[in-house]
Amino acid sequence: MAYSLEKKWEARLRRKSWLIPLLSLLALSLLYSAWLFCLWAFEAGYWGFLFLSPFITHAQMIIMVHDGSHRAITKSKFDDWIMNLGGALFFIPFYGELFRYFHFIHHSYTNQSLDPLWPQEKEKLFNWNRQLFVLSEMIPILSTLIALFMGRSQRREKLKRPPYRINYFRIVVSTIISIALAAWLQASAWFVILNLLGASLLAKVRNWCEHTGFEDKESNTYWFPLGMGVGNHAAHHDQPQISWLSHMICLWNKPRDTHPLKTLWRMFIDPHWKHYKA
Ligand SMILES: [Zn+2]
Repeated sequence: MAYSLEKKWEARLRRKSWLIPLLSLLALSLLYSAWLFCLWAFEAGYWGFLFLSPFITHAQMIIMVHDGSHRAITKSKFDDWIMNLGGALFFIPFYGELFRYFHFIHHSYTNQSLDPLWPQEKEKLFNWNRQLFVLSEMIPILSTLIALFMGRSQRREKLKRPPYRINYFRIVVSTIISIALAAWLQASAWFVILNLLGASLLAKVRNWCEHTGFEDKESNTYWFPLGMGVGNHAAHHDQPQISWLSHMICLWNKPRDTHPLKTLWRMFIDPHWKHYKA
């Protein structure tokens, strides 16, 4: 049976319905406290903490936004709010709803031209000049805009129905939370912006770890710093309802296909390293 270990662990952990939500809450409290410490240290003049905080933000997003979007935490509508709160806590209150919309397309059309992570425009540039591709992807926000707008007409044409109806009420509530948090924390704008740019770079490298390599398959199993189980990615694509905790446990002893430095290096220099194709 495919991914029976993951299913077994998930069933074991779900025997007590509160266990995964409680452990998630614990992990998230620790992560956000660590992030607040980074903010405080940055404001006290320790700029180096800006190299740590994006990893924490990224880890928290994996649990709240990614697992929330799959309703893999409480298994209820409450996860929709967790997903939105994940964006709100880092001052991008619209992120959760948009993420779920595009992430569901990514799951249905992985590595195809409709995949928001791999539109034709990106594929062309990748095939034409690999180094230019990597560098252009490192430009903040550009590739998000490409993903949002470039494949738009194709998506409108080919998607029979929207993968998910964006809930604007939740975006409004998240925005209010972000504003209240900003007023309360009085956080440095530099920290907030640079932290988000750092986290988006990490997400980019993570996407490459997930769907590029020498072989022809759908996705990889890989190591990622503070990955919160996301490296068990081949299993995640097969079983998206399984929680980050079960993935993290199962990933422990698994052979890995890659890690961020290997992927980055291969992407840059190796013409045989390719993006997987469906
Ligand atoms: Zn997913």
